[in-house]
Amino acid sequence: MKLHEYQAKELFQKAGIPVPKGRLLTSRDKLGSVLEEVPGPPWVIKAQVHAGGRGKGGGVRLVKGQGEAAEAVAELLEKPLVTPQTTAEGVIVHQLLVEEGVDIDKEFYLGMTVDRKLACPTMIFSPSGGMEIEEVAKQSPDLIFKEPVNPATGWMPYQARNLIYKLSQVPGGSTVKELSSTMKKIYDLFVANDCSLLEINPLVITKQGSVIALDAKMTIDDNALYRHKDLAQLDDPREKDPLEVLAEAASLNYIRLNGNIGAMVNGAGLAMATMDVIKLAGAEPANFLDVGGGASEEMITKGFEIILKDERVRAILINIFGGILRCDVLARGVLEAAKKTDIDVPLIVRLEGTNVEEGRKILEESDLDFLVARDMAEAAELVAKEVKRQG
Ligand code: GDP
Ligand code: MN
Repeated sequence: MKLHEYQAKELFQKAGIPVPKGRLLTSRDKLGSVLEEVPGPPWVIKAQVHAGGRGKGGGVRLVKGQGEAAEAVAELLEKPLVTPQTTAEGVIVHQLLVEEGVDIDKEFYLGMTVDRKLACPTMIFSPSGGMEIEEVAKQSPDLIFKEPVNPATGWMPYQARNLIYKLSQVPGGSTVKELSSTMKKIYDLFVANDCSLLEINPLVITKQGSVIALDAKMTIDDNALYRHKDLAQLDDPREKDPLEVLAEAASLNYIRLNGNIGAMVNGAGLAMATMDVIKLAGAEPANFLDVGGGASEEMITKGFEIILKDERVRAILINIFGGILRCDVLARGVLEAAKKTDIDVPLIVRLEGTNVEEGRKILEESDLDFLVARDMAEAAELVAKEVKRQG
């Protein structure tokens, strides 16, 4: 579960991590009173959406007076915001964070995550703050410094020095102290709240030499929410992927991925294996979709609808094992679902299990344009070829 910046900053503040003074704005007519409470001008007005890259999408505005502030609010509040991380339609901004403007001298990246290879919480620090850390990792991996943390000992003070003294320009004594103290607090906050990600990008040193968290990203491990009832209440369903909300309502297990091959599979294990063979064939899945072991025609129809609502999808791979559900029954279900939905991309089907020959025949003899694959490898190759053909 992701927190909004303003929510994460409240937790930062309680933990003693310095953040700019700010107030949340949810309606235009409150702007006057909010500006009275926030030191400035200049102010910074920030769209509160979960998608990153808000700066690039115009969701972060530095304003020099009340007039400019009002303009920014009129342009942002209850309007869609498009960032490199949203779809082309963007996401509606329901809340703005109004903060005091800060005089930035240097921007750093500071984050905590769980490193899967090292299997432990790891702090990441980089002098290339303000940019997307994935980009920094690609272009200048030498500018990313990591400190894995042994959970038995917790964060050790020498680890902060390890990170800070990697900087080519080591800041002055009091700034080093503030950076070290922020790192320790970030580690504690990460562990105490069962985070999977905690990110400050940028963590800045102001022209006055103090350290401030200018941005805040926190993701809480969903599996730990049962012991953080207060955090669970901070969930904002308006921010969820609309396709994931649709899938949840239909009891389908759906996760959006980055590729362009829609995949519909029954059973989570088979779905994982399907993702693997798609990648092995040199293509990328657009989603993980598990319709469940006992998928009904209705669920398959819903599955199609959800995949087709995703405009990135160039081809669909249906990979079904007919166990409890017989393949012939399933083939008819797929056929009915396909007729109900306007499918305008190639469909590749791989069936296996009870009554598989009959199931294949039903599909092959239908007037719909299915490509029926003999096995998973062939299915993956066919679907990858379809996507490559489209360029
Ligand atoms: P993101 O694009 O969603 O990550 O939003 P950020 O909160 O990181 O803001 C993007 C950029 O806006 C930052 O990297 C800063 O360069 C700039 N910015 C944010 N707050 C301030 C501020 O108070 N003063 C100045 N001068 N720039 C700011
Ligand atoms: Mn940021």
